[in-house]
Amino acid sequence: AKKEGGNRVTVYYDKLNPSNIERPRLEAHLRNAIENETIEVCYQPKVNVELGTIFGAEALVRWTDEEFGVVTPEVFIPIAEDTGLIQQLWDLVMRRSCKQVSKWNTNLTQPLSISVNFSARQFQEPSTMLQRVKDILAESNLAPEHLEIEITESILLTNSSEIVHTLKSLQDLGVAVSIDDFGTGYSSLSYLKDLPINTLKIDQSFIQNIDQDFGNSQIPEAIINLARSLHLDVIAEGVEEEYQKEFLRSKNCVQMQGYLFSKPLSKDDFEQFLKNFH
Ligand code: C2E
Ligand code: CA
Ligand code: CA
Ligand code: CA
Repeated sequence: AKKEGGNRVTVYYDKLNPSNIERPRLEAHLRNAIENETIEVCYQPKVNVELGTIFGAEALVRWTDEEFGVVTPEVFIPIAEDTGLIQQLWDLVMRRSCKQVSKWNTNLTQPLSISVNFSARQFQEPSTMLQRVKDILAESNLAPEHLEIEITESILLTNSSEIVHTLKSLQDLGVAVSIDDFGTGYSSLSYLKDLPINTLKIDQSFIQNIDQDFGNSQIPEAIINLARSLHLDVIAEGVEEEYQKEFLRSKNCVQMQGYLFSKPLSKDDFEQFLKNFH
């Protein structure tokens, strides 16, 4: 750790190196934060630019540790995955976000849907996970249609027949399945057609590469066309610029998420954002 001017402390460590001397302590702090539920959940709006509506939000975890300061999900999610803490973290995010969105929906004419990120670990004990999803939905009084799960392509490559079966069970409940970071993985396009999925989420790197005169737009355009021909929904993430939005809109990709609309927001800020939208 390095002391900067004032009392800000920034921690430098190799996040992927389990032998780093800071790591065991970071792990212990993470375990505490999860057990004490001091981890926060933020909500990033998902907008439909054609209808001018917010139709949902993605739940994203936030952790500020007393000693380590702000630790980004890119650092602590892999640690949670390695140690198995991701199960408890997932449970916490599911419980909190489903309850929250259910609460919001009681006051909304257009109900929101909540998107939760699922890790590969969530699919290790499918029947336990499915039961937990059902229980949490029931506890929070949220219709399964208002829950979406986001998984990366890499999950589809591991033990795929069991994964496919599990995704199908989720869909049978009414839960939607979205492929996150689409285009960065290695999905074989031929089997995409047979997978129980609802949505392709175009990875933000492709969106951010789109430039002012719509250069570098071949990949997002190809994904939009692929989604259309497979009768899947498509959403773009990481939309930061007006011209990126215009490009997507011109290709009839109208669902978007990104800093252009809003950063991930605390519960209170999300409520304010809902009020001010329109
Ligand atoms: P992700 O699921 O791909 O989430 C999108 C990330 O992009 C988020 O980073 C979000 O804050 C950021 N983002 C959104 N709009 C923009 C934009 O316009 N520009 C840029 N540059 N970034 C944007 P975040 O919150 O730091 O999360 C990073 C990753 O950590 C997530 O990537 C996800 O893989 C993982 N993660 C976050 N929360 C959870 C969780 O509850 N469970 C699991 N398993 N993973 C999570
Ligand atoms: Ca995601
Ligand atoms: Ca993503
Ligand atoms: Ca990502």
